[in-house]
Amino acid sequence: MKAVVKYGKGKGMVELREVPDPKITKDDEVLIEVKAVSFCGSDLHIYHDAHPYWPPMILGHEFSGVIVEVGKSVKDWKVGDRVVSETRIGSCGVCYVCQSGFPQVCEQKRPYGIGVNGAYAKYVVGPARLLHSLPENVTYEVGAIVEPTAICITSILERSNLQAGETTLIVGPGPIGLISLAIAKVSGASLIILVGRGKKGGLRLQKAQELGADLIIDTDQEDPVPKILHVTKGLGVDCLIETSGNPEVIPKVFEMVRRLGRICAIGITGGQDISIPYDRGIFKGLRLDFCFSSSWTAWEKAITLISKGLLTLEKLITHRLPLEAWDEAFRLLENRQAIKIVLIP
Ligand SMILES: [Zn+2]
Ligand SMILES: [Zn+2]
Repeated sequence: MKAVVKYGKGKGMVELREVPDPKITKDDEVLIEVKAVSFCGSDLHIYHDAHPYWPPMILGHEFSGVIVEVGKSVKDWKVGDRVVSETRIGSCGVCYVCQSGFPQVCEQKRPYGIGVNGAYAKYVVGPARLLHSLPENVTYEVGAIVEPTAICITSILERSNLQAGETTLIVGPGPIGLISLAIAKVSGASLIILVGRGKKGGLRLQKAQELGADLIIDTDQEDPVPKILHVTKGLGVDCLIETSGNPEVIPKVFEMVRRLGRICAIGITGGQDISIPYDRGIFKGLRLDFCFSSSWTAWEKAITLISKGLLTLEKLITHRLPLEAWDEAFRLLENRQAIKIVLIP
């Protein structure tokens, strides 16, 4: 089969290759025919050597597909089932973090497309215990963006506890920022503000409008800090969702969140150190939640919200391309000309 492979450490080193079809080697595994795989900002970070990864491996961790073969001990799944899969391959199950219910943060984890072969290919093989059923009324394309949606739900609702009636600010209008916006909307936040760069993210700010942001601040036009303070009567927002990973922007979030408010940090910087106004955070009594990966419960919530029509994420899919156009997808995302790109192997 053809696969997009990151074949070595360093910048670039990605190519479309002919590789052997994967085979089930353990009794608890399933073989999945990939129907759609979504391009992720992390793939760009891996391309640029600014993210942990274990080459050589096939890229791709946001995918959906259909089961075409099951291992001997697999009981709950059968050939023909439509599925999405969590990515936490290798989590040990016995360490403190796994035992306390958060195997997605286990140090031993080696995710699809990062630590083991992923889904930029016709087939992917992995453990059945990571699967979730994809309802008939959810397309494979939308299925491919359940993974980032689950990350946002884990971060915003489960970790930073965004609640109905609260004010929220989303910093960064990329795919994660826009999914965060949709989740804030469905959770009943009373005021949803999005901050982003107009010149670089024209399409993205327009999508934020479509998704129902109450206020969009274009930082090319306006300093967001006085504006946020103005619309929140001098307080700042209850919950600030930082998805930009931008070292110049992150220090400013301390000024836009209210005293005793929460900062939900999802966006990664790609390896840069950031200086933050630490004492300001202390004197305001802020909570800074660093968020990573996704919980089992968040996957179930994401699928249910999508299936019930409460989260309409198909709006975020701006491009559908064949696997062979993977480099075009890299270019589009790098130049911020796309939101979610789905590749069809
Ligand atoms: Zn991702
Ligand atoms: Zn563990």
